[in-house]
Amino acid sequence: MAPTSALFGASPDVARRILDDIEAQFRLSKDDLVRITTQFLEDFALGLSEYNHPMAMIPTFVTGVPNGSETGTFLALDLGGTNLRVCEVELLGNHEFVLRQQKYKVSEALKTGEATTLFDYLADSVDAFLTEFASAVPSSPTTEQPNPFASPSLTELSPEPAVPLGLTFSFPVEQTALNKGKILTWTKGFAAKNAVGHDVVQLLQDAFNRKHLHVRCVALVNDTVGALLSRAYTSGGCLLGNIFGTGTNGAYVERVENIKKLGDSPARQNGGYMIVNTEWGAFNNTRTVLPTTPFDNKVDRESINPRLQAYEKFISGMYLGEITRNILLSLIDAAPKPLLFNGRSSQQLNAHYGLDTAIMSEVEEAWETGRVPIVPVTVPDWQSAHFTDVDKLSPDDIARLERIRGIIIQRLGLDPADVSIRDAAIVRWASSLVANRAARLSGCAVAAVLVQTGRAKLGGGFATDEEKLIVGVDGSLIQHYPNFNARLRESLRELVGEEVEKKVDIGLAKDGSGVGAALCALQAIKQGH
Ligand code: BGC
Ligand code: MG
Repeated sequence: MAPTSALFGASPDVARRILDDIEAQFRLSKDDLVRITTQFLEDFALGLSEYNHPMAMIPTFVTGVPNGSETGTFLALDLGGTNLRVCEVELLGNHEFVLRQQKYKVSEALKTGEATTLFDYLADSVDAFLTEFASAVPSSPTTEQPNPFASPSLTELSPEPAVPLGLTFSFPVEQTALNKGKILTWTKGFAAKNAVGHDVVQLLQDAFNRKHLHVRCVALVNDTVGALLSRAYTSGGCLLGNIFGTGTNGAYVERVENIKKLGDSPARQNGGYMIVNTEWGAFNNTRTVLPTTPFDNKVDRESINPRLQAYEKFISGMYLGEITRNILLSLIDAAPKPLLFNGRSSQQLNAHYGLDTAIMSEVEEAWETGRVPIVPVTVPDWQSAHFTDVDKLSPDDIARLERIRGIIIQRLGLDPADVSIRDAAIVRWASSLVANRAARLSGCAVAAVLVQTGRAKLGGGFATDEEKLIVGVDGSLIQHYPNFNARLRESLRELVGEEVEKKVDIGLAKDGSGVGAALCALQAIKQGH
């Protein structure tokens, strides 16, 4: 049994005040959410009307969504999350697909070295995949049925001598065509040199050519666009694709008429719809409405891209662990008495990015397992749950905290003698503060898209006559973090009202990056690229 009696020195009141103060900084009221969403809509409008806004609102030149009848076999390359993936995707044409994939590691050296070295590595990975895994010759793509969303410029297929590949590149890229686009900036810890400002398709194709690979990159797609397309392929429609993973972003179907910055270019004259990649990770880089705490400022200051990707740093898996680590360190260092771990840290907890978001997820999982799920979270049960009154815990709670204590000792390399049951409660409390804020902020982005596309009004009281509002999601947080989805929906409900929120069908865009890249490659080939 772990020590439960190690109180906060002589003054539990001081402890409570410090913890309450941190908790207050992480709380987001409905008014806060509304203010943030209103700013989102303003930034959407700015980004749609002019180039070079942080909220880039990138036209993707994908002018429709698939209906599930599409067929063909394609290679896909996916760079931008934790792993590099090469896949072969066979679209079966009945909303189903077969995917074979191989993951490859991307080292820190590759992420921050010369771009050519990184792209050579991508080409080598494709080469290795083709040699070991893929069937030799992809079948040529066809569409069985007319696609109601298909671009009017579709032409007959041209014979395709090289293996066609779609690239899912999950960074901001200013696209000028389906197969062309300049890298605007790196995010998520990437910083390869001599890449920003260059055409990413060209960088990859040059690498294929250097290695004499018979592969042609025909399409470029963001992972959010991939999520949207693949959810549409499997569900017959989709209005928004989201990633809540290492990074965060969303892409949605916009009326071309609203993309004012396209001026009177041919793309605009055709009218209809186009998928827009919002790049919402860069929302409010000036932090005028984002609820910044000192813990967030430290994350930003010590990051590879200070003052950029502000919203992403509140939300995504790359940063949540780091915010939590900063909170824990401040409690270890608290004066006049430490409030955590007897004032001792560990090598791991002292290391930059030393607390993986997955550990928070394990801690929250251990707490939730066997409990009534917190849906709806009307009075969030994490509030004021830092247990300055450990004595009032039930034996069940104590058992769960014992499990959490074990996770902390093992995963953070702390001395067991320094970790009490109370410490376990505090780590769980800090994790849920940070994750709950992330999920509630995520709800703002989803609400903003619903309002932007005329499906909802801020404050509720509006009912669209559409039966379902289909949203495709992908990413480690939304897939694995306990209650992330429930907390996001709670925030969405506060913003757009229950009637609309109930219609929102958030579903996993399974293998979105691979399937999306394949679907884009198909559209590109049909357009004669
Ligand atoms: C990138 C986006 C991407 C998102 C999710 C962000 O850091 O800027 O392009 O969609 O991460 O992977
Ligand atoms: Mg990914």
